[in-house]
Amino acid sequence: GQSPQFVDQERHTGNVSPALMNLPEPKAPGPRANATFVTLARNQDIWEIAKAIRSMEDRFNHKFNYDWVFLNDRPFNKEFKRVTTQLTSGKAKYGQIPKEHWSFPSWIDQDKAREAREEMSRKQIIYGDSISYRHMCRFESGFFFRHELLMDYEYYWRVEPSVEFFCDINYDPFMFMKQNNKKYSFVLSPYEYVETIPTLWNSTKKFMAEHPEHIHPNNSMAFISDDGGKTYNNCHFWSNFEIASLDMWRSKPYLDFFESLDKDGGFFYERWGDAPVHTIAASLLLDKNDIHFWDEIGYYHAPFTHCPTSQVDRERLKCSCNPNDNFDWKGWSCLPRHFKLLGKKRPEGWETQQD
Ligand code: GDP
Ligand code: MN
Repeated sequence: GQSPQFVDQERHTGNVSPALMNLPEPKAPGPRANATFVTLARNQDIWEIAKAIRSMEDRFNHKFNYDWVFLNDRPFNKEFKRVTTQLTSGKAKYGQIPKEHWSFPSWIDQDKAREAREEMSRKQIIYGDSISYRHMCRFESGFFFRHELLMDYEYYWRVEPSVEFFCDINYDPFMFMKQNNKKYSFVLSPYEYVETIPTLWNSTKKFMAEHPEHIHPNNSMAFISDDGGKTYNNCHFWSNFEIASLDMWRSKPYLDFFESLDKDGGFFYERWGDAPVHTIAASLLLDKNDIHFWDEIGYYHAPFTHCPTSQVDRERLKCSCNPNDNFDWKGWSCLPRHFKLLGKKRPEGWETQQD
């Protein structure tokens, strides 16, 4: 049951059911962080995002009521706004993305970009032929944190259509970030398809040579490279889930990094994802201790699941995920590198969840 602090006496008086009395949900006491959920979506994503919101509200936000910012390259329609406003317990805000943040920069050679799409389409690389997917990845890499609706916030939690949350979240992850000085956090960490980023590491090395002052002395290079920085091992934090600091992306080191990558053109000449871009940035520009892994947040985005490793946690948090689906300790997961880098002890039971 709920912990006593959430019991609202009024809800238990009389014979009328609380639902019919239309009382507000009992709230978790205590301060809130300056934070919001953020979702990039199209109007047609309405029922997929409805499901994700419902899952988040049920597991966490009905007690915390954080705002929810929705962004779109086109205007949201009435139905999208009505359904999502009704599902969110905090304030829902809707923003359109400015054209400059969702288009080809002037220096991109359109013929070269088209040929790249055709080539990737022939090779059947996922989203290889898509222009909009490239705009999306570039927006998530370089612009979402500059949108006017996000300017007022310090932290965000990214939520995508169709995702699911499997466990109760009984405390406030935003406050955890703030109180523990964390800047970036994740739950899943697979390998990127190398065909989508053939020259991303070369561009990164060029940036490192040009801006040694931006590289953090206590960085996580060992998470993303197995040979001291010569090559990228393709490990990335899966950015469809992120709880992170907005100021981190607005900082000079990151803005310089993004600009340098953007000039190199790989968002269009290849298909650079925001996940490897965010990951490389977080790994090189931050102190390794600024990055946090959430074992207790059960999560699904096709095709991967993060389910808390230990049975004690799963039961305590009323998780509904199948522990055998947990990706953490399987062969395609980079999580062991993170544990090794930080000298963290693996949770109870990890051996039974390998491939
Ligand atoms: P995947 O997770 O890499 O397979 O890609 P998704 O299709 O989930 O897209 C990633 C995020 O960007 C999701 O939040 C989508 O709703 C959003 N998104 C993708 N393409 C577009 C687009 O053309 N317009 C808008 N507004 N959102 C998009
Ligand atoms: Mn997705």
